[in-house]
Formats: sequence, C-alpha cells, structure tokens
Amino acid sequence: CLQTEKILHLKSHRGRKVRVVREHYLRERVPCYSSLCQADCENDGKVLPGDLTHYVVPDVGVVVDFLEILEFRELQGVVFTQTACQAVQHCKGRRQYNRLRNLIKDPRHDCVLFANEFQEYSYCPREKGESQEKWQTRCVYSAAVWYHNHLAGMKDVVMITEDQDAVAEYSSLNAGVYVISDFLQNFWPELQPAHELYSSISQALQEKESESSQKEYTEHLPAEILEAGIKSGRYIKGTLNINKHHDEASIMTEGLSNKNNDPSWAVLVCGNKNRNRAVHGDTVVVELLPKSEWRGKVTALSEGEEKSGEDNESKPMPTGRVVGILQRNWRDYVVTFPPRDGTQSQSRNSQRILAVPWDRRIPKIRISTQQADALQDHRVVVRIDSWESTSLYPNGHSVRVLGRAGEMETEVQTILIENCIHVPPFSDAQLREMPVNSPEKPWRMDPVQVAERRDLRETHLVFSIDPRGCEDVDDTLSVRSIAGGKLLELGVHIADVTHFVAEGSLTDLEARIRSTTYYLADRRYDMLPAVLSADLCSLLGGVDRYAMSVMWELDAQTLAVNKVWYGRTVIRSSYQLHYELAQALLNGEPAEVPELARLEPEEKDAKLAELNQALETLTHVARHLRAQRDRGGALELEGVEVRAQLDEQRNITALVPRQPLEVHETVAECMIYANHWVARKIQETFPHQALLRRHPPPRQEFFNQLVESAKAMGFTIDTRTNKALADSLDRAVDPQDPLVNKMLRMMATTAMSQALYFSTGLESQDQFYHYGLALDRYTHFTSPIRRYADIVVHRLLTAAIAVERGADSGRAIASNKELEELAQHINSKNRAAQRAQKLSTVLFQCLYFKERDPQTDPQCVADAIVYSIRNNGLLVYIPEYGVKGPVYLKNREGQVVAAGEDGSCEWQSGSLRHYSDRISTTSSCGTSTFRLCDHITVRISVRSTSSHADSLNLEIISNKPHRSAEPQQPHSQGRSQLVQEVVRQAEEAQQQAQEKAARRPKLSREEREFSQSKTPNLYSLLEEVRELALMDLDTAARVCVTSAS
Ligand SMILES: [Zn+2]
Repeated sequence: CLQTEKILHLKSHRGRKVRVVREHYLRERVPCYSSLCQADCENDGKVLPGDLTHYVVPDVGVVVDFLEILEFRELQGVVFTQTACQAVQHCKGRRQYNRLRNLIKDPRHDCVLFANEFQEYSYCPREKGESQEKWQTRCVYSAAVWYHNHLAGMKDVVMITEDQDAVAEYSSLNAGVYVISDFLQNFWPELQPAHELYSSISQALQEKESESSQKEYTEHLPAEILEAGIKSGRYIKGTLNINKHHDEASIMTEGLSNKNNDPSWAVLVCGNKNRNRAVHGDTVVVELLPKSEWRGKVTALSEGEEKSGEDNESKPMPTGRVVGILQRNWRDYVVTFPPRDGTQSQSRNSQRILAVPWDRRIPKIRISTQQADALQDHRVVVRIDSWESTSLYPNGHSVRVLGRAGEMETEVQTILIENCIHVPPFSDAQLREMPVNSPEKPWRMDPVQVAERRDLRETHLVFSIDPRGCEDVDDTLSVRSIAGGKLLELGVHIADVTHFVAEGSLTDLEARIRSTTYYLADRRYDMLPAVLSADLCSLLGGVDRYAMSVMWELDAQTLAVNKVWYGRTVIRSSYQLHYELAQALLNGEPAEVPELARLEPEEKDAKLAELNQALETLTHVARHLRAQRDRGGALELEGVEVRAQLDEQRNITALVPRQPLEVHETVAECMIYANHWVARKIQETFPHQALLRRHPPPRQEFFNQLVESAKAMGFTIDTRTNKALADSLDRAVDPQDPLVNKMLRMMATTAMSQALYFSTGLESQDQFYHYGLALDRYTHFTSPIRRYADIVVHRLLTAAIAVERGADSGRAIASNKELEELAQHINSKNRAAQRAQKLSTVLFQCLYFKERDPQTDPQCVADAIVYSIRNNGLLVYIPEYGVKGPVYLKNREGQVVAAGEDGSCEWQSGSLRHYSDRISTTSSCGTSTFRLCDHITVRISVRSTSSHADSLNLEIISNKPHRSAEPQQPHSQGRSQLVQEVVRQAEEAQQQAQEKAARRPKLSREEREFSQSKTPNLYSLLEEVRELALMDLDTAARVCVTSAS
C-alpha cells in the first residue's frame, strides 16, 4: 500500500477557494471486474463478459452530460471510472449520482466501476498548472491503458469523449487503446432512440449556454440555511402537492406531528412566484406569509373529486412561499408539441418550443428541437434538465416520440409512462434463467425435490375452481376426512413460484420492479414470463406441479383448529373446475365434468360422488369461517355483479348478469383463511421482519356524506365499528331499487382507507388489524404468479419452516428497514397499477363515444343515478357503462337546468339552491329538485383537449329515468362491447395509417414490442370493483374473474 497526497481545490458556497490536502492510499490490487482477468483480482459480483469486441471507457464529460445514453442496455462492456463518478457527484448532485450508482449495481446492465484513483499504476497525480478537465481526461485515459495492459492486450479498449482536443492528443499513443468521439455513430449506428436522445441532449446543452440573465424568480437559499431554518422552526419542510383540478398548490408537512396526513397541517402556496420553480412532488422548504395573506381553499364541483368530509366553507389556511428545494422529484413526462402557429419564439438555429405536459400539475417545459414541425400534435417523452432563476419555464430535452396524440397506442403508452410503469419485453438474459418446457424437451420434476417434499399425489384429491378459461391457476384446494372421521383436513395449495424464481435473479429483480401484473382495459403486462405464469407455475389439471401448502386439521364437529402444517408439496390436480360447474355439482344439477367424460358409468359415478362430497365439505367449512369473520365485523362491500364468459382464446364472449354463486365465496374464504394463517406463522417467527397487509379503519368524518345521504332516504348507517357498519349496510335496502344499496356501499367504499403492505417491525401489533376482513393479521400468499408481495411471503414462510425444523438459525430474509422499503415500493406500484387501470378504462370509454354523434346516436343516451349532491351539480353513476362523473346544473353564463312537464331539461336563467340531500333549480318553468338516488337521463359526449386526456361530458336531458333502462338488471354488456369496439376501430385505423406510413415518425423496436399480450381480459371490467370494493377483493375476484360492479 502506497501513500501519496491528493490535493483538492474546493469552492465554498461563498465563492472562497480552499485548498485541501488529503492522504491518498494507493493499492496494487484493485478489482478489474473482467472475466478475462489474468491476475486473480477479487472480482465479486458483476463482471464484464470476455466475448465482446472491446470495452468502453467513457470520459468525464460523457458520463456527466450523457448518462442517459449510457443507460441503454444495448451498450455493453462499459467501464465507469472513479474519476467520472466523482465528477457526476460534484457537478450534478446526489440524485444523478445515485442514478449512476444504481446503474452500476443493476445486473441487467453490462457495466462496472473501476476505482482507478486507488490503483497504483493507473493513478496520475495532478500536475502543477494543469486544469481540472485536462487532469480528469488524463486519469480516464490512464485507466483505459491500465485495462488494456491488465488484460494482457486481449481486449481493445475504447475511450469515448466529446472533447476533440483529447482525441487529437491521445488517439494514437498506445496500440489497442482508442480515443474517439461520435461513439454512437461508430458503434451503435442502428440504435435510433439513442441517436435521437443524443441530439436532443446536445441541443439542450447548447441552449443552456445562451440563457439570458434576467431573474424571473428568487434564488433558492443554500442547504445549510434551510436546515438551520427548519430546525429553528422558521421554515417548514414538506412535499409540494398540486391539485389536479384547480391549479392550487399546498405543502403537506412531514414529521411526527402529522402522521395521519391531516389536511389541516397543509400550507397553501399560491401562484407561480411563490411556488418558485418547485414542481409537483418536490420536497421543498417554505416560509409562512403574514396572517393577513392567509386564505381558504377552492371548493366547487369538479370531476373525480370524491372524498367527502371536508367542510365546504373552507376556513383560512396558512399560506407560504418556497425558499428552497431539498429534493427534486422529476420523472419522465409526456408532453404534447403544440401546433405551430408562429407565436413560439425562435432562437438562432434550433426552435424552442413550450411543450404542454399531459399531467396538468406540471408546468410547461421548454424544449429545444429541430423537429418542431414533425412533432406537432405528437406525444413525446421529455425530461427536465434545469430550472434556473432566470427562466420562466423549466428547460428539458426530448427522450422519445410516442406517436400522434389521440391514437389508442400512443394514449396507452402515455398512461404507462405517466404512472412510471415500465414493462419492456422480458430480456433474453432473463428468459435464459427460465426452465424449458417444450414438446422436444418436456419439463420433469427433479427426484431430489420430490424426495424433500410431501407428496400428495396419491393421497389427496386436489382440485381448482376458477373462472371459465383461466390459464394461470395459482391456487388449488383439497379436503378429506381423517382419524376415522373425527378430523377434517383442509388444504390450500399454492403455485411454488419461489422454487423457480431465485432471490436476486434477473427474473426476481424484474418481478420486484414491476411488483404486480398490470391489467389495462384491453391487455395485460405480466409480472413473470409466460413459461412460469401460464405453464410450470400454473396448477393445471392432470400434471405434476410443485406447490406451497397450508393444511389444517380441524375438529370434524366444531371445526376448531387442531393443528396447522405448512410446507412444500408435490400435487397433481384432478379437476380444473370452473365456478358454474362447481356450483351445478353442489346444487345437484346435471353437469358434465370433462375429466370424467371418458370413464365407464360405474367408475364415473364413484368419482363424481367423491368430488361432490369434497365440494360439500368445503362449502360447509367455508360457511363456518365466513360466519366467524362476520361475527368479527367483516364487510361485504361492492361485490361481483356481472360475469364475463371467455372463449378458448380468452376473448370475452358474453357478459352475463351475476348469479351470486356461493362457490365464489367458498373459494375466497379458503384463500383468506390461508393468507391469515400464513400471516400468523411468519409474524410469530419474525416478529419484526414479516411482510403483512393491514387495512386501517377509516376516518369517521369521511362517513359524513354516507350517513347523511342514507338518513335522507330513511336509513340509519352506524359507522362506529366495522360490524355496525356491515349490519346497517345490510339493512339499508330499497326493495324498489337495488341500486340504492349499491350506491350506499359505493359511498362506504369511497370513505375507506386503502389496505397496505408493511413490515411488522414498524408498527405495534394493534396496528396490524385488517378492518375490512375483520382479522387481526393478514397477508398475501395465494397469488404469487401476479403479486410480488406473495413471493416475499413465500420466502418468509420457507425461512419460518426452516427455523421450525432447526435447520436455520432464525435469520429473516430481510431487515425490518429493507422490508419496509420493499413494502412502500409495492404499495406505490399497486397504486400506479390502479391508476393506470382506471385511466385506461376512461380512455376506452372516450374512444368509444368519440366515434358517435351524441345528438343522434342512441348509445350516447343512458340512465344515471345520483350518488352525490354538490354546490353546483350532481355526481352520477351510469350502470350501463360503469361511468361516474359530474352533471352540472348551472353553467358559466349563470343559467340553470330547468325540467319541463315531460321531464325534458333545458338551460334557462334562474337560481340554484343546495341542501345536504337535494339540490333545486328555479326558473320561469318552476322548480326542479334532484335528490340522492334519483334516476335521470344523461347524454354522453367527449370533451377533447389536444394536450391532456379526453374526458366524458355528461349532460342532463331529462330528470326522469331513461326509458329503455332496466333498473332491475343493469345490462352491462355495454362495457365489454365497448372495449372490443374500440380495439377494432384502432386496428382499422392502424391499417389505414400503415398504407400511408411514410410521413409518420418511426416507432422504436422497444415501443413496438411494448405490449406483451393483447388479448382482451376480464380484469378490464374489474376496474370498479377494485376501486370500490375493499382493496382485498383480489382474493374474491381472481385473475380471470370477470366482474364489474
Ligand atoms: Zn483483474
């Protein structure tokens, strides 16, 4: 080890220059992370493969300015130098530095870090009078030379730089070490998206140099002053939150005092100057304004706002101004390039365009581009680079073009990007980790595995009950009588996904990043590759499969639990039943079980009797379990109401009104039971490191609207406990109109909190409660094919079993902190999945109605039911299309809706009065009153804007129910037809477009392959259930259940 001195020149924030001398230790051995290493380096972890033609060493300038390009996975064999990394940290700040570190850590990227300044032979001390830039270039070059020599000249090394002087100086010094610019042109001429990104970044860099110096905003204060101010209480720290509907910003303050996100702790930030360049989601520091400037919030009817409980007359709130930003929360944004109308400013060479973000909460972004004409009316992904105090708008650069605004594919991609959902096709490297199962090489179980597992194939009748056409079966059941009839053994057997997905593998990493399978209106993006989700992990009938099982020994009489067994098993499911078939068997109706079709009558009868017995016992047990939870106060919220039928290609063939099948609940109850017992097991073994799911009780004030609405209709809703709420909801039934009870349950659901994953080390045990299911502990174990949480829980259960067997010292799979971080990540991905699903449903609704003339097309007129009364209108629900939205009773001209004798409505001058349970308009026609649960007729049209998502516009045309409506049986076929219709239209449009394709910007390969599965799926229709019903309805309505409510 060699000691030397390293001299650093630092600049303090007051501009004073400081010279610091640091001791610097050099070593002979610094890992090279190359598989070609001849010198026995300690290359732990990722190494560069040997089969590349060359390694790439980017110089400091390239890493600092073009990191995004180095992030393309196509770029292989990249060596990042310590010199470049430190420069990123220094020039670009912590966020960009973390981004680089994550890139280096990420096993999907073929790149490594070389600590060149610690390597005795590659380190070069800075020379007297040498500029920082020159010295850095020399360091990186020296590192490149070291690599070449260290690998005994086996590998050419290319240093890439934007600096022409460096090319001139170094390009021909050493054989085998090249210094070049234009690296993309030279090495990746085909990588079109990278080239476009490159030119857009260079463009933005050039523009930055020519910025004006006039100040538009106050400078931000330095970090030390902000920290001191927060400590002393002079400043407040929080997250900037901009309202989607009225461009109103507020700061949600953080800290112990505001653990419940109490809105009364918010500080309003009014206007752009006070917002001082902070963007939605940034962590900011604010200074309060004097009390004389405090004011109330905006409150009026606007779309999508559902939470009730806040007072309509908002009291004055503190206001403030942003004095500094602690953490930027910039992400990729989708913007629309406006039509060129000559008003946009143009500077010398390029054109500077103010692009409008799709997300209304984000300010316009200034993009410099030479493609302004080609890009007009296109949606483009951009990133913000900077927002200087001299600039009215942030500056950014474009990353890639999605396509023309308004086209289905463009809009779907927009929804994904806006929700930070990145679902590229599974990579080859990932797919190489997968087991093979092909006709030539069929997959077989490993005898070692079979020996280690409990083999249930000969002893247990295992079967699955799923929706018709389901291909990813992740759960199966068994039940049998043991101990001479004294005991019952109930078994839940779940796909053993963790057997195939090793912790830390690429597949695991990708599944973790996705966290869930994403269901959009017309497609889904799987969490796991199909060979697992639809094949080897799918517990199909008649084939051998690995499973994770929970088996209970129950007293045959009392059904009390005698013993629980958890462990890995081998199963062979005998029957793959669908719900209707199982229910028909239970009801004793004639039914054909496909698995028995070829048997002789005698054998068939015996088998059928055995299956019937099992189904009956299962139903008996489930009823008991359900009754137990009911006594504890479990809630039945909005349930499954329509059910879709799938054909073999998983297309929706029909939507049939729901026949409530008890067997749905039976299966769901068994899954809930398994989830509960697994939660107990992992929590008891790892009290501080288990992943559970809790459902916090709702805030009482959110129930105000429900209670008052119900009261207005003559019902009493008791919200003091979940039990009281469940009972009173059950009683609130209008025999004339089943939609009334549905409305009330919808309102109850809106008031609910979301269920969340958490690590048990973070909360005290009384916080573990699952309010909706009325269980003291709960987790997700039963769907590992499509939820990452279940994969984690399977690993925890495996570890717990090892502890029980004494095979392990009791080490948890992750620390409390790691697990909590993971829980937060999964929660946020689940929210993103829900938002994307909801947005895609709205997208399809809009595309459907966009094609129709609202004045003439009967499809555009529908029955709607009032579920909320607002200041200036109503919120209604349209059962036929599953649409919710506002109906305004007063327009901008001050006119109100007046209903004539026959119910038909028109705009007239008049006045409006609003009460808690009704709203009245008065005009020369008289008075019209609208009450909760009234049926009205609305006309549906589309409100289009070029820069944002379209939305549906609902207009009242009669205060009477729509004539063709059948309130007893809302015919929900509309919704599946809607999706099919839109997909068909889009395909036709695409064909037409292809015929004149020449003028369209080319889509990248990645974009074309973006979607993985296009088969319409039933989850599309689940949108509302998910939103309305308790967030745990996953258990009730599984992968291909079709349901909507
Ligand atoms: Zn080495």
